[in-house]
Amino acid sequence: MSRFFSDSVRDSSYYTPGEQPSSGDVLKLNTNEHAICASGLVTSELGKITADQLRRYPDPYSSELRQTIAQNERLSIEQVFVGNGSDDVLAHAWQAFLSNKLVIAPDITYGFYPVWADRYGSQFTTIALRPSFEIDLCAFQENQGAVVLANPNAPTGIALSVPELESIIAINQDRFILIDEAYYGFGASSASSLIGKYDNLLIVRSLSKSHALAGLRVGYALGHPELISSLNLIKDSVNAYPLDIIAQNVARAALRDSVWYAHASSEIMTSRSKLSAGLLDMEFRVLPSKANFVFVEHARLSGRMLFRALRDANILVRRWDIPRIENWLRISIGTPKQTQQILFTLGQLLNQV
Ligand SMILES: *Cc1c(COP(=O)(O)O)cnc(C)c1O
Repeated sequence: MSRFFSDSVRDSSYYTPGEQPSSGDVLKLNTNEHAICASGLVTSELGKITADQLRRYPDPYSSELRQTIAQNERLSIEQVFVGNGSDDVLAHAWQAFLSNKLVIAPDITYGFYPVWADRYGSQFTTIALRPSFEIDLCAFQENQGAVVLANPNAPTGIALSVPELESIIAINQDRFILIDEAYYGFGASSASSLIGKYDNLLIVRSLSKSHALAGLRVGYALGHPELISSLNLIKDSVNAYPLDIIAQNVARAALRDSVWYAHASSEIMTSRSKLSAGLLDMEFRVLPSKANFVFVEHARLSGRMLFRALRDANILVRRWDIPRIENWLRISIGTPKQTQQILFTLGQLLNQV
């Protein structure tokens, strides 16, 4: 670490991303990328980008992209903010609405939340998930801190319904509620129908998982126009041109292809059912997932052992050395062929021990 590194940031926490191996010879089920390639409209849009477009600065407010999102969601453009992936949007939202505040979140959730809490001086308080790994709704209704929830939650995959979410949002409309819908599009309901009704609700989404565009880096937020204009102020204090012209145009093309989207989502949900059924047959406990991954624990074998054995078979999954979930593996949903491959490998492994 450099001696020039500022004292104000030298003790920060950091997020550890899942491994991105350079060799192509692994079955990569560790970072919840979409198993299917993006819409054909995406590649044709890429081919249309000209050097003249790249010569110029992009639209700093991504107006056309925001218009497309607004149309899809039946909202107005003033209710939409976009950023370089949802992590970027979440970081802005944290800074805008949660810095130096009391923030409550489940104890088992997305690992970036405590990192932002640390960066922006929030008093971060966690509420334990129930033994079933479900969110304790009553505790969230009673505690009056600002709320951050991933829905479906990560890494459990369990989703709350819209009435359940509304019971938290409505109970005290003076507290800010952030719902991270990174795994929207695989069977969970969105809280977007509540945007017009509550000005304390911000929803953050990503094209990384739902639209198979993790490499493009596009995320967005939906909320009351005043929340959105506050996000724009934060954006303009850091980087006025966050989305490049390629991201703006390609994301629009992807969001317009509802046929691809419906097909791709249903393929993933079908694979998820097959993987879950196969794992249940092998004595795994499988949480009911509404995301493009499943969170599983074996009745007899440790998470550490299974993680290593899969790795030796060139299959990457994700595991955390955290109390309560050290025996659990998060497995991203693959294609039907990849699903067969991991089930076959696990079957062989279980036969050996
Ligand atoms: C993947 C993920 C994100 C970040 O997604 P990007 O849009 O790729 O930055 C945010 N929140 C959760 C819960 C995620 O799993």
